[in-house]
Amino acid sequence: MEILSPREVPLGGLRAMTVRRTLPQRQRTFVGAWCFVDHYGPDDVDQQGGMVVPPHPHTGLQTASWLFSGEIEHRDSAGHHAFVRPGELNLMTAGRGISHSEYSTPGTTVLHGAQLWLALPDSDRHTEPDFEHHVPAAVTGDGWEVRVFLGSVLGSTSPVRTHSPLLGAELRLRAGTTLQIPVDPTYEHGLLLDSGSLAVDGEAVKAHELGFLDPGRDEIEIVAAEDALFLLLGGPPFGEQIVMWWNFIGREHDEVAAYRAQWQHLLEEGSDERFSLPQDDPEPALPAPVLPNARMLKRG
Ligand code: MN
Repeated sequence: MEILSPREVPLGGLRAMTVRRTLPQRQRTFVGAWCFVDHYGPDDVDQQGGMVVPPHPHTGLQTASWLFSGEIEHRDSAGHHAFVRPGELNLMTAGRGISHSEYSTPGTTVLHGAQLWLALPDSDRHTEPDFEHHVPAAVTGDGWEVRVFLGSVLGSTSPVRTHSPLLGAELRLRAGTTLQIPVDPTYEHGLLLDSGSLAVDGEAVKAHELGFLDPGRDEIEIVAAEDALFLLLGGPPFGEQIVMWWNFIGREHDEVAAYRAQWQHLLEEGSDERFSLPQDDPEPALPAPVLPNARMLKRG
């Protein structure tokens, strides 16, 4: 198993909250099509300011928001206004281009969750923007509980359609539980541990780490020494190289540079052929950072 340790990254502007980013890393771009794993909290919102992420663009990806506690208000340029709540999947498809904002709500005292990105395969990455909401039923067994938000595991299947084979699930294990999870041997897996400590196929994973498992196994054995909460992510190796910069995913430097120029065109001229802004947003949109001096390289 490969252990990916988090680095702390500020999210948003002044009084930014800090997130723990385990993907991407220098040595790893993907777990299946999953290409971005941010994990945060539990944060006392009075102390840490909560989530304030004004309108910003995305291309070529889907964002999956998953909360353990708190509430986030979402607005996007495709006209969706939604609230992200614990145990509920909110899946935004950027496709050819979208912008959105995310703010923790005034009633939120503790903010705790994850934001995950999925790269769209080349065949589907220019699709129209979309937003889906799904509340998976909790399925329980001896000492465990699972909520499957994408794909299928432990006898539970999400109805949400994906653009490539995927797994995304929240699991809770009681102290002393050993769980054998049957998995698709063509999948690679990532296990993001929120709290507790686990042995995964005999190797230790500590809280906030992402343990990566190669394809070729038909079962993952998890032993929980204490109560544990984690996300299990998976999918077949993505098999495409991407250029990922700021909030954009493309396939070439020039394509991503053009996305940046189109976003700035919207902010400076008030309209653009690719991007627009969410309606009635309380904050001004975020300008894109300057492009790196060197050409951006494909990864993966
Ligand atoms: Mn975003």
